[in-house]
Amino acid sequence: MNRRHFASFLSFALASPLSFAASKKITPKANSALVVVDVQNCFVEGGTLPVQNGKDVVPVINRLATQFDNVVITQDWHTPAHISFASSHQGRKPFEAVQLSYGQQVLWPDHCIQGTPDADLVSSLHIPNAELIFGPRGGLPSLRACNCGG
Ligand SMILES: [Zn+2]
Repeated sequence: MNRRHFASFLSFALASPLSFAASKKITPKANSALVVVDVQNCFVEGGTLPVQNGKDVVPVINRLATQFDNVVITQDWHTPAHISFASSHQGRKPFEAVQLSYGQQVLWPDHCIQGTPDADLVSSLHIPNAELIFGPRGGLPSLRACNCGG
């Protein structure tokens, strides 16, 4: 799958995960990888920065993952008082933007704070063949941006 096809595939999978789940039209090659990005409690219902119907994607991912030899999981992981949190900027509210040394930053509610249940992967995510988890990210709160949609 080239980059263009991957982008189309990803857009389709994200836009209509349940339709995608029914399609069964994917045939990964040995060098293909499924990258599962930030499927964490903070981004699903009940989390601190939820995506509506976020848990709907979990069974789709679980099924897709069985078809890939290579699966990588990422995990959003912030220090308390992270620079991308609105609570770190006096008088600012979540979803406002501020100008920081590296550019414009959308301010997020406090979310995915390292070591909290909010930052855990969704418990129904079942990918026993995952080879690598990127995260926890750690780092200094003043040096880490968050462009993660959260
Ligand atoms: Zn984040």
